[in-house]
Amino acid sequence: MRILVTGGAGFIGSHYVRSLLLGSYPGYEDARVVVLDKLTYAGNLGNLAPLAGHLGYTFVQGDITDQRLLREVVPGCDVIVNFAAETHVDRSIAGAGDFVTTNVLGTQRLLQAALEGGVRTVVQVSTDEVYGSIAQGSWSESAPLLPNSPYSAAKAGGDLICRAYHRTHGLDVRVTRCCNNYGPYQYPEKLIPLFATNLLDGGKVPLYGDGLNVREWLHVDDHCRAIQIVLEKGSPGEVYNIGGGVELTNRELTGWLLAAVGAGWEAVEHVPDRLGHDRRYSLDCGKIQAIGYEPRVDISEGLAEVVRWYRDHQDWWRPLKGQAG
Ligand code: NAD
Repeated sequence: MRILVTGGAGFIGSHYVRSLLLGSYPGYEDARVVVLDKLTYAGNLGNLAPLAGHLGYTFVQGDITDQRLLREVVPGCDVIVNFAAETHVDRSIAGAGDFVTTNVLGTQRLLQAALEGGVRTVVQVSTDEVYGSIAQGSWSESAPLLPNSPYSAAKAGGDLICRAYHRTHGLDVRVTRCCNNYGPYQYPEKLIPLFATNLLDGGKVPLYGDGLNVREWLHVDDHCRAIQIVLEKGSPGEVYNIGGGVELTNRELTGWLLAAVGAGWEAVEHVPDRLGHDRRYSLDCGKIQAIGYEPRVDISEGLAEVVRWYRDHQDWWRPLKGQAG
């Protein structure tokens, strides 16, 4: 089987590729994986270094909006898993153009190439942020898409173009919508690695607004296993929520991270709230549970392990910190 993983040099995509090729998904040990990644600021070949010399792994630097390249790379692939995206909400507030180009147009071009290239299945990796914000209860997959940031609006555009390619052309495309991820190799602009690395340096951490925004957190390994379950057991044209069941306010999460590095609340700097900041996300995961998904990583153990990872891998994140700003 030949699998094209777009955005596979980023945080989650690289975890998926390492898991697949290093034997975490039975039956896929012999898969051939082509990683196609533009290597934006968020893409990092160091994330794929554990695969150096692996016979099943090929890397192609390129853009998912590049139709000519897609016509070369896509034919012959059985499966595409699309992680490629602009992903940082704050960057989308500062400038949304790249978000629309990659997350909407890039998704459409990839689907068109999949259709023309005879790809069997496409998995589009999306986010719970497309649903907007929910005060109480949880979203099922049929909840309306009400995105509030340019990032989530562009991801919602990608989701809708997936729906259209399934409905119009019969392409087998499945969409996953996951909550916030944490784990190793996450670019240090995102909350957990930003806070962990600032605190490890004895610095301050910026907490938005009143700190009471609620997010559901999932270890990246559980997310990738869920994507694999959708690939193996999901159905064409369907959407699957992937949650962790652990909701924390940003204040609670900050408290856990402070404790993990032995810092106090004096390290926290309150900063003005993010524009359009969603208050709460929460997913109903009954649909994916019905095909065999359950998260495995306990949040307290997972967070402690991740803080240890950033402590032990300063050679990975220090060069990125300056760029992250
Ligand atoms: P990331 O920013 O770490 O990685 C994105 C990768 O995509 C990078 O390697 C980058 O170089 C590549 N890329 C960007 N534009 C590209 C283009 N035009 N062509 C080819 N490659 C391109 O992101 P991540 O956190 O690993 O997220 C991966 C996917 O998962 C995204 O689609 C994101 O929306 C989704 N997601 C992320 C989270 C989370 O908490 N991080 C939660 C739910 C869903």
